[in-house]
Amino acid sequence: MSTKTAIIIGAGPAGITAALELLKIADYHPVILEESFEVGGISRTVEYNGRRMDLGGHRFFSKSDRVMSVWRAFMPVQNKPARDENLLGETIFGFGPAPDNSPVCDPEREDRLWLVRRRVSRIVFLRKFFDYPISVKPRTFINLGARRTVKAGFSFLAAKIKKREENSLADFMINRFGKVLYRMFFEGYNEKLWGINPTQMEPDWGAQRIKGLSLSKAVWEALRKPFAKKDGDIAQKNTETSLIERFLYPKLGPGQLWRLALDEVLAKGGEVRFGAKVTGITAKDVRVTAVEYEQNGDKFAIQADVCLSSMPVKDLIAAISADKPAKVAEVANALPYRDFMTVGLLVKRLKIKNKTKIRTVGDIVPDTWIYVQEPDVKLGRIQLFNNWSPYLNQDITENVWLGLEYFCNEGDVMWEMPDEDFISFAADELASIGIIDRGDVLDACRIRVKKAYPAYFGAYKEFGVVREYLDGFANLYCIGRNGQHRYNNMDHSMLTAMEAVANIKNGATDKSKVWNVNTEEDYHELKVK
Ligand SMILES: Cc1cc2nc3c(=O)[nH]c(=O)nc-3n(C[C@H](O)[C@H](O)[C@H](O)COP(=O)(O)OP(=O)(O)OC[C@H]3O[C@@H](n4cnc5c(N)ncnc54)[C@H](O)[C@@H]3O)c2cc1C
Repeated sequence: MSTKTAIIIGAGPAGITAALELLKIADYHPVILEESFEVGGISRTVEYNGRRMDLGGHRFFSKSDRVMSVWRAFMPVQNKPARDENLLGETIFGFGPAPDNSPVCDPEREDRLWLVRRRVSRIVFLRKFFDYPISVKPRTFINLGARRTVKAGFSFLAAKIKKREENSLADFMINRFGKVLYRMFFEGYNEKLWGINPTQMEPDWGAQRIKGLSLSKAVWEALRKPFAKKDGDIAQKNTETSLIERFLYPKLGPGQLWRLALDEVLAKGGEVRFGAKVTGITAKDVRVTAVEYEQNGDKFAIQADVCLSSMPVKDLIAAISADKPAKVAEVANALPYRDFMTVGLLVKRLKIKNKTKIRTVGDIVPDTWIYVQEPDVKLGRIQLFNNWSPYLNQDITENVWLGLEYFCNEGDVMWEMPDEDFISFAADELASIGIIDRGDVLDACRIRVKKAYPAYFGAYKEFGVVREYLDGFANLYCIGRNGQHRYNNMDHSMLTAMEAVANIKNGATDKSKVWNVNTEEDYHELKVK
């Protein structure tokens, strides 16, 4: 019998993982409080008129064996062709035929399985396609033209000879790519993403997201690639994160995996309360004693032996009823976020042609997503859901299902535009850069996602005081992405939950392992032999 109650805030990857891990310790009963009525947080699947959207396009890959094995345990990997592979008459993603004794995992017959997908992502700039990350190959130079190429080469050499002290994201990028390439491929895009210039941002973001990338590395990759053995492991451990070429993907989008994971929590005796928004945390001395939430207009309080929070740090601090130092409240309240909107756009066809050697259904471009560097539009990225999974759009032979991504601030002009106006604005932008003909739009919807990106500027510099204060509560753990105000992916978010539960199990008081996830390369401490 469970004797202790663990309150988990949020039913995203971090919260669900926390519940699963806690269920392995006999005396904890996990109760997940989830503000929305959906499973998976940012990693959910949204359904619209019979089609599915992935908010962001979630690749499932991890350098942590532990995460990979948790994911793999939920579903088998396809060993028969998916719909697009059948239509093309080729097995394009590199899995072999099912060994004689293994069960058949046929995406055309079953839903519960992983697809193996190929990552193709490029940049649209100067109305041309560039590889992402920028690669050193003739096409890049042809697209840039001779003058730009020479200028970029000299500025890269200058950056190598005279390295800058890395005080900002701009310094970080210029050191690795030179000023000219930085201006072309990073500055404008980062301004779109974060709403501020990279000179005003901390270098940490670059260190986390594009760790080992640089022009030198791109040159090395170009030289090495023809001789390199393919990394057969789907986790592609030896590959730089931004260069991972294949990834696992749930047939029905990321929310499918998190729904299965939550079903397991419930089957093992855990609990979830939807529509339950946490509004208060009661603490006595150094312990959280109860969590308050609102549901259907009523207020409830639930006693807590331990609390694991994946809600935004800003909201968590505001919810704590105990007296707190003014500085902590001030920093937390000023923590910056970037919000996000996706327009799901169904179009008859794309105007751009597939000039790659990769074959696709309808001969659409093979990209899973495309970065839009064009400075004359606000559009940041395009998702091609047909290429993520041929089961996100039921008629891939007839039309193309896209996600148009915009980075914004809650309450700004784009955020406040009515759906119809914003959809029209987004479709106009896509047509203006030559990706579609405006008249080919068949259907559309708009989804808003608050606090999609915890940002690394402004009050974030003083985040340490907030962390120290939160760590002072012996039984409170900050997990996940917004829960830690860190640019954590799904795997990192899961690992924070795993580390938190390891602490609870061992009675450890030092929470640095929970915070250290995604700060060290490859998370050595969590590797399972
Ligand atoms: C555009 C985009 C693309 C991405 N692509 C990838 C990718 O390719 N691969 C990858 O691994 N990761 C990717 N990520 C990151 C991934 O989405 C996150 O790492 C992951 O969803 C974080 O999980 P979480 O549980 O910490 O938080 P969330 O997913 O944010 O879930 C938190 C949950 O808490 C709930 N909540 C918040 N406040 C309260 C409250 N007061 N009371 C109760 N409930 C509350 C929310 O409703 C939500 O359901 C991407 C993210 C974005 C924005």
